[in-house]
Amino acid sequence: MSGLTKKQKRTLIRIVLSAILLIPAWIITNHFDIIWWKSLIIFLLPYGLIGWDILWRAVRNIAHGQIFDENFLMCIATIGAFALGEYPEGVFVMLFYQIGELFQSYAVGKSRRSVSEMMNIRPDYANVRRDGKLVRTDPEEIKAGDVIIVKPGERIPLDGVIISGSSSLDTAALTGESLPRAAETGDDVISGCVNISGPLEIRVTKEFGQSTVTRILELVENSSSKKAKAENFITRFARYYTPCVVGAAALLAVLPPIVAGGSWTEWIRRALIFLVISCPCALVISVPLSFFGGIGGASKKGILVKGGNYLEVLSRTSYVVFDKTGTLTKGVFNVTAIHPDQCSESELLELAAYAEAYSDHPISVSLKDAYGKNIDNDRIREVKEISGKGVKAVVDDREIAAGNDKLMESIGVKCRPCHRIGTTVHVAINKSYAGHIVISDEVKPDSDEAIRALKAMGVKKTVMLTGDGKDVGESIAAQLNLDQVYTKLLPADKVGKVEELLDEKEHYNKKTALVFVGDGINDAPVLSRADIGIAMGAIGSDAAIEAADIVLMDDKPSKIASAIKIAKKTMNIVRQNIIFALAVKIAVMILGALGAADMWAAVFADVGVSALAILNAMRALSVGNID
Ligand code: ADP
Ligand code: MG
Repeated sequence: MSGLTKKQKRTLIRIVLSAILLIPAWIITNHFDIIWWKSLIIFLLPYGLIGWDILWRAVRNIAHGQIFDENFLMCIATIGAFALGEYPEGVFVMLFYQIGELFQSYAVGKSRRSVSEMMNIRPDYANVRRDGKLVRTDPEEIKAGDVIIVKPGERIPLDGVIISGSSSLDTAALTGESLPRAAETGDDVISGCVNISGPLEIRVTKEFGQSTVTRILELVENSSSKKAKAENFITRFARYYTPCVVGAAALLAVLPPIVAGGSWTEWIRRALIFLVISCPCALVISVPLSFFGGIGGASKKGILVKGGNYLEVLSRTSYVVFDKTGTLTKGVFNVTAIHPDQCSESELLELAAYAEAYSDHPISVSLKDAYGKNIDNDRIREVKEISGKGVKAVVDDREIAAGNDKLMESIGVKCRPCHRIGTTVHVAINKSYAGHIVISDEVKPDSDEAIRALKAMGVKKTVMLTGDGKDVGESIAAQLNLDQVYTKLLPADKVGKVEELLDEKEHYNKKTALVFVGDGINDAPVLSRADIGIAMGAIGSDAAIEAADIVLMDDKPSKIASAIKIAKKTMNIVRQNIIFALAVKIAVMILGALGAADMWAAVFADVGVSALAILNAMRALSVGNID
């Protein structure tokens, strides 16, 4: 038995010892005719050994005013058995209860461990060069700006940028994606990936506490504190349930003898059996364990779920609303045309790139890439980014505005429309129109499959929201077979649209959920307004991790369908456990009340149901393996 904690080992030793003590006790009492108090002492020894902590806990909880818990149930049941002269039964009930508890705590510990093992991304050390030698250092001691060396086969310990070397990186632990990614000098790298082929010299950009690894581990560890409704239900259920069964047992013990003149010992015995059966441990433990398993299985696929409650809601998805840029499309734009009005093509591109210098929007990143040269920040002043419209800046003492027609309208510039289909970035110099740059984005290769998978699993409606123009939006929506598309939306309009869609969904079916999927860039308000917000491509983006309920580590839309599948499967397991445990319990309880089940049946029903429910719950851990 490896992998047991100290406490679990102690319980195991107590179980074995008291089982051994039971053997002579049994032989002596069965073969010799000894007086009742002597055999009581012989059985009290193993009972005390195995049950003292339960007795103590029950006493302590009563002192704290929490009378009705499972410790209490076990104590009155076993003490009652002793009072009836059924000494071995009293010991056995306690013994089996402890075996069940041990099994439960072992299962919980194991699934906890396997979640963190799955997320086996915590780095042990970082190599730094000191006096010409490589020294292994604790990653927590490294500061931003330090240079570390990562050899092939090692895990990248901190987020940073490659300053020399090229290699391919294995991101499987983060994204569930098995294909390696190429990385070369100048590329950003994130902690948690494994360096495969060549040595890399990396300048650290974030210290350990802020690095991707730490953020992800924190997220997964905190996820168990957000309880699903089913879990809260169980806690509340146990609070009312236990006093009810104790009350029912009391009536069962008292009423038949008084009313119908039944035998007192017989009915007290039945009442005690009834109590043993009623212990709700199978439910109390297996439901949280199932959620834990579902969250763990999802993280194995690069889907981070922030709490069991989100799995529950996600399993009822009926509307899926997408952002366009960066979510359904790659967010990498190619310049397809430059139409200047008062300057050369290259000057127009340069001005746009300079105005966009400080923005992280996919459009500005693409314009800077197309420009290709270094940007001299001294030439730029007074930068303002207007989300959903574009940017304004002073470049070389000229006021430049670059963005869509709404931006031009807001500064009173009349723009010349373009006949080409694509995203048009208009540029104005000193409030006079200077021409436009047409750029176009590509649909992600698995967007099509993602929409089809959602439809196939019964999602009622798929919708795309975009701040981009009508032509672009509608052509992409048609290409992907989306049910609806809304274009030219400002970030605030997107919240309004999602609210409208939420209303519509309410009318369709109150119990279902609306999911919004975005890339995290200026859609935080929408992510939090939807029933479930899913952010894509968390690698690198803090905003996405903050605002969303579920975070996809890579940026594949097809993972949305996988997430919903995992949620559905987890909820099935939870439901099976609740129904199965309650059904068996109620059946045996009735048998016990009718006198058809004895103390042994009661104990086996309790331990057996717990064990099966736990095994079923552990199945949830493997839900990540579905596709
Ligand atoms: P989406 O809804 O497709 O994710 P956004 O809301 O981020 O798009 O932006 C909507 C529109 O606003 C873009 O299509 C573009 O026309 C304009 N825009 C936003 N930011 C910028 C920028 N930095 N430079 C130029 N245009 C921009
Ligand atoms: Mg966007």
